[in-house]
Amino acid sequence: MNKEWIDIAEEICRRCGGICCVDAHPPVSTGRKDLMVRAGTSENVFEFYGYQRLAARSDGTCIMMKNGRCQVHGIKPETCISGPFTFDLHGNVLEIYLKRESLCPLVRYLKEDREAYDCQYEMAVKNITSLVEEIPRSELEVIVRIPEPETDKVAEIILTRGYV
Ligand code: SF4
Ligand code: SF4
Repeated sequence: MNKEWIDIAEEICRRCGGICCVDAHPPVSTGRKDLMVRAGTSENVFEFYGYQRLAARSDGTCIMMKNGRCQVHGIKPETCISGPFTFDLHGNVLEIYLKRESLCPLVRYLKEDREAYDCQYEMAVKNITSLVEEIPRSELEVIVRIPEPETDKVAEIILTRGYV
């Protein structure tokens, strides 16, 4: 991934303070959970509500957020890495959506810089595909029912097999 874009994106996210980290409950694949636990994350931050996810504090802020920063930034869950791209799934069609600018300050920059957009898009598709392939079908069915308002579809990808 483009190092310059990573630095710019991290600065934008730092200034944003984590709008997307409120009421997020990101799904966590078992592989990603193991990675986080090996890196020192407590098992207590994970919970299961139809799917394995990160818990949140009483104000809705993700349990991994501290002083406006993600404590697992380098190994955060797949959907966190993918933001502001998100997904839906119909059979073997993976739909990729982009959040609107009103939800995420990064979006304006992505729309103005094709190279940055492509960079983030490729990262999102790689992580979302990996998540979809790894987590159980029953959990996927719960995840795809979660509403994702204020997003626009930007791509459809045909997967080699259907998941939900
Ligand atoms: S991805 Fe968007 S909403 Fe989330 S912290 Fe970064 S700028 Fe904010
Ligand atoms: S893991 Fe990090 S990036 Fe993801 S919702 Fe939690 S604090 Fe935000």
